[in-house]
Amino acid sequence: MFETLNCYLVGGAVRDELLGRPVHDRDWVVVGSTVEEMLRLGFVQVGKDFPVFLHPITHEEYALARTERKQGVGHTGFVVDAHPSVTLRQDLKRRDLTVNAIAKSVDGILFDPYGGQQDLQAKCLRHVSAAFGEDPLRVFRVARFAAQLVGFRVAQSTLNIMSAMTEAGELESLSAQRVWVEFEKALAAPNPQEFIAILKRCGGLEPWLVELNDVPAKFSSGSSVDRFVQLQMPLQNIETLCNRLKCPGRFQQAATDYSAYAETVTRWREVDPQQLLDTLLALRVNHASARLEALARVVSSIRDVDVAEVLILAKEFGGLALASEPGMKGLQGKAFGQALRALQLQWLTTYLSR
Ligand code: ATP
Ligand code: MG
Repeated sequence: MFETLNCYLVGGAVRDELLGRPVHDRDWVVVGSTVEEMLRLGFVQVGKDFPVFLHPITHEEYALARTERKQGVGHTGFVVDAHPSVTLRQDLKRRDLTVNAIAKSVDGILFDPYGGQQDLQAKCLRHVSAAFGEDPLRVFRVARFAAQLVGFRVAQSTLNIMSAMTEAGELESLSAQRVWVEFEKALAAPNPQEFIAILKRCGGLEPWLVELNDVPAKFSSGSSVDRFVQLQMPLQNIETLCNRLKCPGRFQQAATDYSAYAETVTRWREVDPQQLLDTLLALRVNHASARLEALARVVSSIRDVDVAEVLILAKEFGGLALASEPGMKGLQGKAFGQALRALQLQWLTTYLSR
């Protein structure tokens, strides 16, 4: 019953297919239809600012072809027109980059009015039209694509618009959440350093990511959390950046653990046993080893040291039942704490002398 709909695959799915990259979600544009028809066909409306629907069976996103006109500041404030007379070409024109503005019909025919295939060939991220400047999120999207699409550069003309947007203070109107989404995608990408480099070139680290101005330009493999730690920011910067971006707690915890404990974990054989004990307890290895394991993994990715042995130590330490030693009997409160610590220290000292 959907044969009546004039649908095209668009955006990342077409781009990634042409690049031979895995396609993770498929977005469709529907030309010449109406909200009423979509609902009648069983699509479920999800967009509140513009007509986007989920397919009743595949749950893929279907949007009515639309034009957008800027009114007001920032990422929002668009006047949307999704009249059935809006053409595919008009819909593609509102998109950010030429490589994201290629459509494919269900018969496999490509519609590429803005030279997207040519830019894919040339590995160039280029804006579709001057309207690019109307949405500051695009500054972060472009930087993120530069991190994801290996070997791609940003067209100078596009960088010029991005610079004008940052200079005009447009980025301020974005929400922390939108910025974080792009930053996290860039951290998980093959080349996170490109994200930072592109933003630097257009002045886009202000006001959201100023702490990235002086971070190492090298990343090794790992999750987005690992990459966040690899920025090796000082404690103060981690806190400021995480508060500003409202990033999930596990990012702040992992980066803070590195900043505070990486040195001890790296040189655990040489440090004072008191300090080693404090670190093990701070990382709560007596309850669970996950935090130390995560830290050890990222320490080895940054410092190229072998951390297997400290994990063995932590495992043994975590398995101790010192509280039920005979000497602990009848002790309570402060006396209990002191006696336990003495036993832990004694155990650690013996372990280290082995
Ligand atoms: P991803 O691989 O992250 O899904 P994508 O290119 O598919 O990348 P989406 O956010 O899924 O990005 O958006 C789908 C398409 O919608 C984009 O390819 C682009 O054509 C258009 N688009 C999305 N966000 C914007 C934006 N802020 N400005 C202009 N066009 C946009
Ligand atoms: Mg997509």
